Amino acid sequence: MRKQQRRSACARLGRAEAGRPEQGIVRDAAAQWQPAVAADEEWLQRCRAALLAWFDASARVLPWREDRDPYRIWISEIMLQQTQVRQVLPYYERFLARFPDVAALAAAPLDAVLKAWEGMGYYARARNLHRAAGEIVTRYGGRFPGEAEAVLGLPGIGSYTAAAILSIAFGLPEVVVDGNVVRVITRLTAMAEEARAAAGRKKIEAMAVAFFDPGRPGDFNEAMMELGAVICTPRSPSCDVCPVAGCCAAFREGAPERYPVKSPRRARPHHQIAAALIWREGRLLIARRPEKGLLGGLWEFPGGKQESGESLEQTAVREAAEELGVEIEVAEKYMSVDHAYTHFSITLHLFHCRYLGGSPSCRACSDWRWIAPEQLREYAFPRANGRVIDALLQEKNVLPKI
Ligand code: SF4
Repeated sequence: MRKQQRRSACARLGRAEAGRPEQGIVRDAAAQWQPAVAADEEWLQRCRAALLAWFDASARVLPWREDRDPYRIWISEIMLQQTQVRQVLPYYERFLARFPDVAALAAAPLDAVLKAWEGMGYYARARNLHRAAGEIVTRYGGRFPGEAEAVLGLPGIGSYTAAAILSIAFGLPEVVVDGNVVRVITRLTAMAEEARAAAGRKKIEAMAVAFFDPGRPGDFNEAMMELGAVICTPRSPSCDVCPVAGCCAAFREGAPERYPVKSPRRARPHHQIAAALIWREGRLLIARRPEKGLLGGLWEFPGGKQESGESLEQTAVREAAEELGVEIEVAEKYMSVDHAYTHFSITLHLFHCRYLGGSPSCRACSDWRWIAPEQLREYAFPRANGRVIDALLQEKNVLPKI
């Protein structure tokens, strides 16, 4: 069922006829929706040609564009989810140097992959990359599959990523509809419907198919994404240098930032988290989070969410007992850091704590270690812990003698 849903969301075109979609959910959506712009073939051609001419002349030079290697394109597409190109570049180069092909990635321990990913956030992406590499080796002999069903069956690959890999690496007519494409299309057409609602989504996909150039699928998809990333940006789009300004309804209206139309988001909840720096003879106790779930497989200082009626110190003591079965007492507050995730934000409060007793055991974690502070960098921690670790290492000569 899940796979069916993923598959039907993939904006896929028929292969037999290059010019128009032949089969698929999105083709059906296009047939149901006939806005003025979609019916105007001259408009579509003019807009498409302007977009591709701009991309041919101005595409950014990026390492994953050096060739059409599906492995390299796959890694880049996963990294670029929720992360901007300039942030991805140094990670991409290091990751490719460390894991140059599918076989190297599949053979590496998960810890090494998480470590290479450390700082990028959304660690499920790294865990899925590792699992998918294993599947590519065992099921496809190490060759990245070039068929939609097989690609969609790999962990961590949804309809958008599948369409990007298949069109860019394999030249298949798969239409990418990501956040950049949604923004460009809703502005080109000044779409009044709410973009996240089912009806709005359907219209956007229909328009994306109508606009698509199956003669140059990879280039077209990259051009749309590039336009959204560098010119048709969420705030202050550069309409004055936009190659498709002549076809753009939102530009004509003079209010491109009104699109895509969105309903107001609900406020993001904020949580207070207490964590314990548990010291014993100059070593710190760290725990590894369960494989599944948020930040799965990463290391952390034992801790958790403050419960009602509890002080932060009490939270740290309770969490150490629940997570690892150790008894501690709080010695002093160390620091607090704020961090935002996609759906919530936290303030993480750290306390230096004395170890009182109990053999650590994994009650709500997957592993634990006593380590010297200098070893902290050998373990992959969530990004919220980065500033804490930096501070601990800078202060290693003045750490409390607990
Ligand atoms: S003219 Fe402006 S709003 Fe329209 S596509 Fe170009 S950058 Fe976006």
